[in-house]
Amino acid sequence: MTNAAPTPPKADLLNLTRSELEAFVLDELKQPRFRADQLWHWLWHKNAADFSAMTNLSAALKAKLAERAAIVRPSIDVVRVSRDGTIKLLLRLADGERVETVLIPMAGHYTLCLSTQVGCAMGCTFCSTGELGFTRNMTMGEILGQILAARAHIAENALPPLKNLVFMGMGEPLMNLTELLRSLETLGSPEGISISPRRSTVSSVGIPQGLKILGDSGLAVPAISLHAPTQELREKLMPKAARVPLEELLACLDNYPLKQRERVTYEYILLGGVNDSIAHAKQLVRLLGQRRCKVNLISYNPPPPQTGPAPYSAPDPEGVLAFENYLRSKRITTFLRRSMGQDIAAACGQLKLLTG
Ligand code: SF4
Repeated sequence: MTNAAPTPPKADLLNLTRSELEAFVLDELKQPRFRADQLWHWLWHKNAADFSAMTNLSAALKAKLAERAAIVRPSIDVVRVSRDGTIKLLLRLADGERVETVLIPMAGHYTLCLSTQVGCAMGCTFCSTGELGFTRNMTMGEILGQILAARAHIAENALPPLKNLVFMGMGEPLMNLTELLRSLETLGSPEGISISPRRSTVSSVGIPQGLKILGDSGLAVPAISLHAPTQELREKLMPKAARVPLEELLACLDNYPLKQRERVTYEYILLGGVNDSIAHAKQLVRLLGQRRCKVNLISYNPPPPQTGPAPYSAPDPEGVLAFENYLRSKRITTFLRRSMGQDIAAACGQLKLLTG
């Protein structure tokens, strides 16, 4: 009986950083370095889905690539378009798991809201993704594959370009730190995706060890999901995140290495009758008033009725304005974020793999 040598697994090219791709080209394919430049350009800049499209590679090299490597991209299962122009893409990953990514229309371009995990372990009480629980981390190829899928959709439909990224979709990015950092590094690589990591915001509930590493990397500025002005209330709204005491979290952010003009963003979701009173606004000013920061206010989006009773209600619009005005009167830079894509469950905290 003969034992055939097992076929080595194919290299997943979209899951290689620039230096890893170079090593693959030099060591595995035994090709000169400039071939890595060409491959990189086809994969990330030209959005090539297969090797046959790579016209400046020889037939022999394309055959070798097909034998030794693969381009594994998320496929678009469902596209839903909101009345306000927000586009939600339900994506299928190679192992059949699904995630959502959201194109948010801005003036003349789109911002893409990226997922970093399949599900999420943090269980924030106002968030539909938290209800799904955690399945697994996404790889760099899957995280950045969302950009390729979104760009393909944009090209097919002649839509405005994608300019900004927010790591704010399904999952807690700092719980998938290795793949997040690899993704940010790849974003900044020349001749690739061509979206500067500085046009990217990483949203997190605030994990000090992860923030320290992200800060040292110099690759992104965080937006912190604060959502409560006191430790006690934060423990009710975000019990797992609040295991890090508020004081410790804020001290860590005070030391975050910021460049000139950069500020830490604090996200604050206004939940009707829970954290949206002027008394809460005063507590928030006491907490943030002396800090180099800005505040994004977001009105809570109750999930669609088919998912059962909502845990919270939307805040009163007049109360939202009063809250915003109070923060501004105390010289805190404050933005009221318009909720986009509510009718297709694509707004903040609504991502739950709904297709109907
Ligand atoms: Fe996870 Fe973010 Fe939802 Fe919290 S808000 S459960 S961290 S996805």
